[in-house]
Amino acid sequence: MRFMRKQACKPQLPGMTATELTALLTQWGEPRFRAKQILDWRNKGILKPGLMSNLPIHLRNYLEKFVDCCPLRLVRRETSRDGTRKYVFSLHSPRMSGKMIESVMIPENNRVTVCLSSQVGCVLDCPFCHTGTQGFTGNLNKGEIIAQVLGIMQDLNEDPLPPDLHQNVTHIVYMGMGEPLANESGVHGSLALLLDPEGLNISRRRITVSTSGLIPQIERLGAHYPVNLAISLHAADDKLRDVLVPINRKYPLADLRRCLDRFPLGHQRHITLEYVLLDQVNDRECDLEALSRFVRPHRERVNLIQFNPYPGSPYSGTPKERMNEFAQRLISKGIRATVRRSRGQDIMAACGQLKADVANKMGHRVSGEEN
Ligand code: SF4
Repeated sequence: MRFMRKQACKPQLPGMTATELTALLTQWGEPRFRAKQILDWRNKGILKPGLMSNLPIHLRNYLEKFVDCCPLRLVRRETSRDGTRKYVFSLHSPRMSGKMIESVMIPENNRVTVCLSSQVGCVLDCPFCHTGTQGFTGNLNKGEIIAQVLGIMQDLNEDPLPPDLHQNVTHIVYMGMGEPLANESGVHGSLALLLDPEGLNISRRRITVSTSGLIPQIERLGAHYPVNLAISLHAADDKLRDVLVPINRKYPLADLRRCLDRFPLGHQRHITLEYVLLDQVNDRECDLEALSRFVRPHRERVNLIQFNPYPGSPYSGTPKERMNEFAQRLISKGIRATVRRSRGQDIMAACGQLKADVANKMGHRVSGEEN
């Protein structure tokens, strides 16, 4: 078996489908039902073979030796005053060895949302985004993306949330470091596992992919994985969006508009337009008018986001009062608009703040980011 000889070819347990694991076990001469036992542990966030108590010892040893059971190592966890936890994971595959990524867990009364990274750094370069300042190092594969969810599930098993809060991961958002749709292979593979009844079995209504607006990729997402879609819009005028979201130069607003109009939406579903409010940059009267013209009120809603400053950022956020006023003005035009409460700001876990700078503190070099 080739994977047994080469470390680089070890299959990663978090990214394996039932079919792939069954095929591997068959090569080892193991009965098929062992695949279900292993996946039951994995899907609960238990990745160490030593803890898989219903497996025979020799099979636990095989898994230890020939499978990459934990492609991520938790380097640091920080907890915000509001309960949000930020996780810094290091990658150890030969391809990504020593690189760091960040993931975030946001607890609320009736849900636990996990925000995933899809790349180390980001291929794009949005000037208001901390991740965008890091450059791009590489794409995460499906195993490395799913391992973030499983690592957070394991953390919740070991250190539960306060009893009044929901304890299990219920929602997934691809809004961590990276432009998810610039990594279709990793993101599509991980979506398949999240949706798979034999995988994490999460409803597509509880999964959101956020993108800055890569049109062909949005179309493929809609065709193959019609989960919730969020667009990092941030401006509804090409001249301004060319600056704030530079991919707009390639995929301008008129093309994005047509693409969003075609995106498949089920009953009672909508597209979210993310709009980070930057003081005197995109929060003026003309910006509000442009946004009102762009939105399709029956299919879309606007999520106004507080700008989260990071060291050296060239922008400042719109004051809270004016954010509320901006929202009210949109609502008065028949547009569903909400002001998103910023979570984890004190630990740099809020939107646009992710950057795996722990590596710098630890003397490594990284690049890394979010949508
Ligand atoms: S906002 Fe999103 S797409 Fe833009 S640089 Fe940041 S991570 Fe990349």
